[in-house]
Formats: sequence, structure tokens, C-alpha cells
Amino acid sequence: REDHLLRSEKMRMVGELASGMAHEIRNPLTTVRGFLQIAKSNQYNIEPWYDLMMQEITRMSELTAEFLQFSKPHASSYRLKPLNGCIVRVMQLMESESIRTGISIVYTGPEEPVSVLMDPDKIVQVLLNLVKNAYEAMEDGGTVTIDLSVRGEYAVLEVRDQGKGIPEKELEKIFRPFFTTKEFGTGLGLSICQKIVQDHEGIIEVETVTGQGTTFRITLPLGVAQKHA
Ligand code: ADP
Ligand code: MG
Repeated sequence: REDHLLRSEKMRMVGELASGMAHEIRNPLTTVRGFLQIAKSNQYNIEPWYDLMMQEITRMSELTAEFLQFSKPHASSYRLKPLNGCIVRVMQLMESESIRTGISIVYTGPEEPVSVLMDPDKIVQVLLNLVKNAYEAMEDGGTVTIDLSVRGEYAVLEVRDQGKGIPEKELEKIFRPFFTTKEFGTGLGLSICQKIVQDHEGIIEVETVTGQGTTFRITLPLGVAQKHA
């Protein structure tokens, strides 16, 4: 499915993102450079700003790491695999974060495998992005629920949180690259999710209630084997 059209569409997107990236990285670079110049002059002690510089550098490093996900040549291999496995993996990856934050994560779907044609690493990446956002939205703790179900010829994955919700006026912007309301966010998470889900011929939707929580729903076509079973 990696034909020329898909490829050029992808390159166009990478190009658009690249200019955004340059913009996003220039500010922290200028900040860090400024501090180093002051340090070099030996007139001021910049130790109080070490943490700030570290944060700026971490942010640049996260931005570039996430950007690579877009520009990486399409090495995905689509295989018929159970979504259950991806969910187990994500829950394992969140274990230390759950202990740190006191947020619990539960799975409410079936134990029986629900398989779709997918690149499992990519789907794990999508779920991880959604779950991380869910954790970040729940400052007062709570539970994140991952649900899986079959509706007709589709598998439906849901990530639900009990967080602060998304204000109506921000809803249309959340999938845009670099849109973030977090002090050290990259704003790339959801745009990466959307891209990957579209690559899988699926859709991603959001429902939110201010002060109560947010649900992200991913609908993916079931694998052929299941469709004809
Ligand atoms: P980032 O997490 O780096 O800010 P994302 O693309 O992952 O970037 O998310 C973009 C924005 O969408 C977030 O900054 C936040 O405002 C909003 N958002 C995403 N998921 C949630 C959620 N589960 N609850 C509340 N707000 C969310
Ligand atoms: Mg995010």
C-alpha cells in the first residue's frame, strides 16, 4: 500500500512539519545560547537557571524524537494481530507512571482476541500517546479505562479518563501539529495518532465533558479473517 501517492502526501506533510519544527526549536535554542553567553562572561552565576536550560533541552529532544516518527521511512509491516496484545503492552509501559501518580489503568474489553490488520508498534504508539494525555489530564488522580469491542466490521478501541476535559473552543485544534496547552508539551502526540490511525484506514474521534473527562475512540476495520469468520 506504500505507493507513490501516499509517499508524496507524506513528504508534503513532513515538509510542513519541518518548518514548524524549525520555529519550535529556535526559541529554546536562543534561550540556552543566551544563558551560555552569560555564563562565559563569568559575571553572573547561572546555576539557578540550570533546571530551566535542562527543560528546554529536554523539550527540543522530545520534539525531534516525535518528529522522527513522521519522517521515518514507511517501514511498517501490516499483519493480522490481536489488539489485546497492544493493550497489554501499553499497560505494562505505564506501570511505573501509575505508581508515581497513583492513577490506575484498567482494561474492560474481552479476553478473546480482536484482530485487525496493523503495525502493532504503531498502534502501541497511538495508545501510549492517548494514555499519557489521559494521565496528564488527571491532576487529582483517578482511573484510565481502555476498552475494546467489536461493532459490525470494526474494532473499537476507547481510552477514557476522568480528567479536566477539553474546552469546546480547543476541540477543533487538538489534532493540529504543535497545538499544546501544556507548559512543556510538544503538541505532536495527537497529530501522530491521527496520522497512524488514518494509515490504518481507521478514524479517531473525541468526546469530552468539562470537569468530568475525555474519551478518545479509535475505529479500525477488522482483519479479513474475522470478517469472513
Ligand atoms: P501535548 O500532549 O504535547 O500537549 P497532544 O497532541 O498530545 O500534545 O495534545 C494536544 C492538546 O490536546 C493537549 O495539550 C491538551 O490540551 C489536549 N488534550 C489531549 N488529550 C487530552 C485529554 N485526555 N484530556 C484533556 N485534554 C487533552
Ligand atoms: Mg500528548
